[in-house]
Amino acid sequence: MNNLLDYTLNELEEMVSPKFRAKQIFEWIYKKTVDTFDDMSSLPKQMREELSKIYHFNPLKCIKAEQSSDKSIKYLFEALDGSRIESVLLPMKEEQVDENGKISKHARYTICVSSQVGCRMGCSFCLTAKGGLKRNLTPGEIVGQILWIKKQNNIPYERRVNIVYMGMGEPLDNLENVSKAVKILQENDGLAIAPRRQTISTSGLSNQIKKLGDLNLGVLLAISLHAVTDELRTKLMPVNKAYNIQTVMQAVREFPVDMRKKVLFEYLVIKNVNDSIKDAKTLVKLLDGIRAKVNLIYFNPHEGSVYQRPDVKDMIKFQDYLSAKGVTCTIRQSKGLDISAACGQLKQRNENK
Ligand code: SAH
Ligand code: SF4
Repeated sequence: MNNLLDYTLNELEEMVSPKFRAKQIFEWIYKKTVDTFDDMSSLPKQMREELSKIYHFNPLKCIKAEQSSDKSIKYLFEALDGSRIESVLLPMKEEQVDENGKISKHARYTICVSSQVGCRMGCSFCLTAKGGLKRNLTPGEIVGQILWIKKQNNIPYERRVNIVYMGMGEPLDNLENVSKAVKILQENDGLAIAPRRQTISTSGLSNQIKKLGDLNLGVLLAISLHAVTDELRTKLMPVNKAYNIQTVMQAVREFPVDMRKKVLFEYLVIKNVNDSIKDAKTLVKLLDGIRAKVNLIYFNPHEGSVYQRPDVKDMIKFQDYLSAKGVTCTIRQSKGLDISAACGQLKQRNENK
């Protein structure tokens, strides 16, 4: 059976006849979020029956959901082949109601999606790395995470969500399917999530960053830097042997970004490993001339990890240093820390049981 979520509208138009049915199918799936072909009442009965013999549009089954105290919800999905992946819904802003009871500001959401089952980059701090790479996710399995989460949470169609490819896997190691997912998500008759609302996070595969740039999708780029010397970065992220810090920074400098946007640098802070002011100083130098913003992330310990969570005071000192030097810098409030945050940890806990 083929997954309809794998296709752009153009492709679907080539697959069904008459052509105009494609748009209707798209609307049933993405706007009216029906469960079955039978619900697509504007299609002829025979067509519905035929479609259901060849296609499906439910690539994922949710087998677990956990809400944390800060309202983020982590989902564990099972694909049709039994593979498991995680996604997270992060409420960024709450709905605000004015004195007349009217909504004055809408809630804002970010959805964090997985791009692979496992990952082959082998970062020493990351739980997803442990089992290596099982397989790439298909475009439809990436799109499916978002479609399911929006529907499950009754997030209205018009409410635009932001997407971050920061779940399990290295998106640029699955560039073909990830870039296709970006395009499917962007479809006006689909979920209509503009590329500038989609951020692709990478461990720094410089040649793939270049390829992504050449595709000119309009997506935002996030770099998982985590260390400012090659010696340390190679210890934390073996991928640094193939693409060292200089090549990553060069690829970033060449990456097309909208004048109003910045490249995000993620910096996982690990106690006594990369949390000194000396590190912060070097980081400022590295970012010189780049329109960057830095997101500091508390290392989240997991079973078997040798690293420790940094002290709050060191985290703030680090942030203050960057800010004083004019670098935009936020501390990621570990959304869902109490529900085993960071990628791979819900899956792991569930399998240990
Ligand atoms: N492979 C891509 C995207 C997925 S990883 C990348 O590395 O950028 C997404 C984020 O999860 C990374 O920034 C990584 O630093 C973070 N992460 C992994 N393990 C973590 C841990 N134990 N605690 C906190 N963040 C973690
Ligand atoms: Fe892969 Fe990202 Fe985890 Fe590194 S941090 S192992 S690149 S998922």
